[in-house]
Amino acid sequence: MNNYELIDGKAIAKEIKREIAMQVAELIDSGKRSPHLVAVIVGEDGASLSYVAGKEKQSREVGFISSVYRLPEETTEKELLEMVSFLNNDIEVDGYIVQLPLPKHINEQKILNAIAPHKDIDGFHPMNIGRMTLGLPSYIPATPLGIKLLLERSGIETQGKHCVVVGRSNIVGTPIAILLSRNAKNANCTVTLCHSKTENLKDICLTADILIVAIGRPAFITADMIKEGAVVVDVGIHRIEDGSEKGYHIVGDVDFENVKHKCSKITPVPGGVGAMTIASLLHNTLMAYRKEIYE
Ligand code: NDP
Repeated sequence: MNNYELIDGKAIAKEIKREIAMQVAELIDSGKRSPHLVAVIVGEDGASLSYVAGKEKQSREVGFISSVYRLPEETTEKELLEMVSFLNNDIEVDGYIVQLPLPKHINEQKILNAIAPHKDIDGFHPMNIGRMTLGLPSYIPATPLGIKLLLERSGIETQGKHCVVVGRSNIVGTPIAILLSRNAKNANCTVTLCHSKTENLKDICLTADILIVAIGRPAFITADMIKEGAVVVDVGIHRIEDGSEKGYHIVGDVDFENVKHKCSKITPVPGGVGAMTIASLLHNTLMAYRKEIYE
């Protein structure tokens, strides 16, 4: 049994936002304009609306200009492509996101492909994914970037460690596996990427110095799958209905209560990876403003 430490996503996100706010204040003091982040949302998906509201609030808190285009559910693919083209050409917009999921009649990949790579602060454009894979400067999608920042700022050594990533989605598992396997600072892990067809998952997890879980199954990773002293990063988020006053509680993909005693460090849910998402997006927006990736 270990004296585990929590990896405090809320505190780290706050620290990152404070640093961004200081840089924005310096820009304004020197007579420059603030970075401008735009979100486009189509339809009335509840989770998307609250995520976009969070982005708007936190953008303003760090001193960014924040705009949201709220488009009706019936918006056509052609109309959305026109909006994307407008934003690509607006010199006062540094970066923007088109909130996913989109209504079924719109081809998401077609929209993502139309976003100018230099404004693609979600990092979903094939150009940014390709650059990331080659180890070239790129926008890194918010969740994997958040995980990297959590590891870095918690002083977790990655070089030479065995990192097991469970889940291979394009937005979490695959990019974090690529990033941690690169020959780069705060990377250089030996990475094993697992998925639903993986055999002997438990045995593989038991060899992980760093275990990153993004599978979308509540409390799936149990204590018998954890090596003593491992670092565990839980990306999952699930709302579990209960008889409490609130009516629900939030859990991750890891059985936190039983797993935590075997870890050296572990992210809580909520307050771990999820708390980092918007801070990562703000980080990317400041990079876009400073043209750090594309001239
Ligand atoms: P996806 O559903 O896109 O991918 C799930 C992955 O897990 C797939 O690769 C799948 O394998 C794999 N998988 C499913 N079941 C098993 C299993 N029994 N054993 C091994 N692998 C399995 O999920 P996402 O990556 O989008 O999200 C994962 C979780 O993270 C969700 O709970 C989501 O809500 C949460 N999330 C949280 C974020 C945050 O900010 N904290 C952001 C994004 C997601 P296969 O490829 O073979 O189907």
